[in-house]
Amino acid sequence: MSKQTLMNQAHDILNNVFGYERFRPVQEDVVAAMLEGHDAFVLMPTGGGKSLCYQIPSIVRKGTGIVVSPLISLMKDQVDALTRCGVSAAYYNSSLKAEEAKLVLERLKNGQLDMLYVAPERLLSQTFIKTIQSIPLALFAIDEAHCVSQWGHDFRPEYEKLGSLREMFPEVPILALTATADEHTRQDILQCLNIPDARRFISSFDRPNIRYLVAEKKKPMAQLLQFLDDWQGESGIIYCLSRKRVEEVAVHLQRHGIRAAAYHAGMPGRRRDKVQEDFLHDRIRVIVATIAFGMGVDKPNVRFVVHHDVPKSIESYYQETGRAGRDGMESEALLLYSSGDVNLVRRLIDNVESKEQRRIEIHKLNSMIGFAEALTCRRKVLLGYFGEHLEEPCGNCDICLDPPETFNAIEQARLALACVKELEERYSKGYVIDVLRGANTARIRERGHDKLDTYGKGADMSANEWTVVLRQLVHHGYLTQDISQHSALKITDAGKKLARRKTLMLARFEPGVRRGFKRPPRRHGDPVFDELSKLRGEMARAEGVAPHVLMGDASLVEMSEKLPRTLEELAAIDGMGRHKLDQYGESFLKVLQKHAPRAGEESGKARAEAARPARKPVAIRAEISDAQAFTWSLYKEGLSPAEIAARQGVNEATVLKHFIALVKAGYEVDVQSLIGEAFDEIIEAMDAAGDYPSLSEIKRDLVNPVSNEGFRLALAWREARMAEAAAA
Ligand code: ADP
Ligand code: ZN
Repeated sequence: MSKQTLMNQAHDILNNVFGYERFRPVQEDVVAAMLEGHDAFVLMPTGGGKSLCYQIPSIVRKGTGIVVSPLISLMKDQVDALTRCGVSAAYYNSSLKAEEAKLVLERLKNGQLDMLYVAPERLLSQTFIKTIQSIPLALFAIDEAHCVSQWGHDFRPEYEKLGSLREMFPEVPILALTATADEHTRQDILQCLNIPDARRFISSFDRPNIRYLVAEKKKPMAQLLQFLDDWQGESGIIYCLSRKRVEEVAVHLQRHGIRAAAYHAGMPGRRRDKVQEDFLHDRIRVIVATIAFGMGVDKPNVRFVVHHDVPKSIESYYQETGRAGRDGMESEALLLYSSGDVNLVRRLIDNVESKEQRRIEIHKLNSMIGFAEALTCRRKVLLGYFGEHLEEPCGNCDICLDPPETFNAIEQARLALACVKELEERYSKGYVIDVLRGANTARIRERGHDKLDTYGKGADMSANEWTVVLRQLVHHGYLTQDISQHSALKITDAGKKLARRKTLMLARFEPGVRRGFKRPPRRHGDPVFDELSKLRGEMARAEGVAPHVLMGDASLVEMSEKLPRTLEELAAIDGMGRHKLDQYGESFLKVLQKHAPRAGEESGKARAEAARPARKPVAIRAEISDAQAFTWSLYKEGLSPAEIAARQGVNEATVLKHFIALVKAGYEVDVQSLIGEAFDEIIEAMDAAGDYPSLSEIKRDLVNPVSNEGFRLALAWREARMAEAAAA
């Protein structure tokens, strides 16, 4: 068959089986290479869409596609999802009973499977190899291919033997897929799998739908509750560094009425599986975990990832935040950053035996600090760390959304570069700063660096200010830090060109500023989306699969915005393939038809936007205490002040004081319903009394009696409104 015909078939399957309109850029190239029978290596970030790269060629090519995956739980999900698209797929691993396993092999031998997911140790058993040697194979796909490499962070001995596949099956193309960015590991994968000539497909590591936020860690519990409040109803993961912290945070969230659960390596395996399962099925909303949680969590609708403590490296940070927004929808990654945490991690690293290992870990931690304290686009810093250059600031991180003040730092930049040059690019940041500031140290004198031209030329700036400048020069790519040489600063080609420039705008350091910007839209709260989501949940439960296996959030959102009225219109929704249309189309339509716009009514999209509860930008809220946050979350659950007081074991006056603080901090409290009749009376009396009302007289003259706290609450509300009006 011609190349073109095969590609047409691939498109046909993309549209009709998977229901997607078009391939993502790299996907199409990989599929083409596989259809031509080449070996290939695919590097794509999590959520990039690796699965289709082997699923579609497995269907188009003659024979079965064998997919090697280390994670049993993922296999089931993938197979469930494929089955729902009408693809004949199965898995073969230790979770199957003997009878079931036999049945799978039967189907395989009879050529009834487009795809078979296999655990590596099963694949390499002699009987299995014999079986697949006697049948046509479409391809081998090695998922999580970095597991073959000892260099990688997740080496698995059973993967190592996969290198023999190339020789045993010379005619079958091999596709290796990974999300691990490290160059060394990449090389290793090709070597270990014996596919040196594989075509390489490397897509950008950027995850544009994830918004990166860094906040100074002050009152982490209150900060968490506030953040969770912004993501009401949505799923997320909170990472902590220690088991103890995990337990504490989980209990705290549960006490505040949030469906949260702890997850760490110290828990019994059964319990961990249960937690993971509940999370996948949306029965648990928030997982609080150590890094033990992640690999194998293929939940596409994780809307946020919070790092409660500073991660040890950008690699792990990026991997963990990457678990948000796999479905491409807007998501957030929040890092709560404190220098105290950094010191804690430093002490942990001090305990590492090997000096070399210690050096690497310190360097990695320093890069992480650089990220957290960055004053330039976060995404630039992240991608830059992985050797990828982002042309423009991203527009979707806290720095881009609310940029810090800048100044022309060209003089300082030139001076710093001159100093690095004079030091022959052999010293790290701290030493360069010492020389610039003319520090009188033995090290400097012994080396004669006090005789350098640049020595002491930067004495008018503090060490802190220089750190800020140097860090930005690194982030902007004018300097690099050489990890193999004690983080020595080196001048890049871009840095050499700085000499000719007149301006270089850098940020001034402003620690601890709270930033204000619009938060991403929230889906829950839109009645159509909620109803579709409920229906999906019911259908998924009936079939015993996770809701996202049945249909992705993105498809539900598109439905709730476009409000399709016919099966034909429904077919145009991304992710709605033929098979799903047959199975679920009518049920979804029933819900959608109830909400169909009549002539002259606003569009579904406008309605969906309007229906979502208004949200205050998080930044204009001030810090609140844990107790106040508790009151807030109970209030959001619909409890009355008396009930809230009972739950907390305090009196009602205290709860009203919490509300006063909440109103002052910018929280949306319906004060009128809390106070009742007296509210309007108080506001009217205040308005009538002018600028300097006598509060005690106003209170005394009220027809409707109100407690002191109630009275003060109304006043706080009125003041907040006036401040808001003044600001607008
Ligand atoms: P990865 O394995 O790289 O982490 P997946 O293969 O699980 O990523 O895909 C991530 C998400 O992107 C899934 O929800 C999938 O349905 C969606 N997706 C993949 N390819 C496309 C496409 N061409 N069009 C629309 N959505 C896609
Ligand atoms: Zn940015």
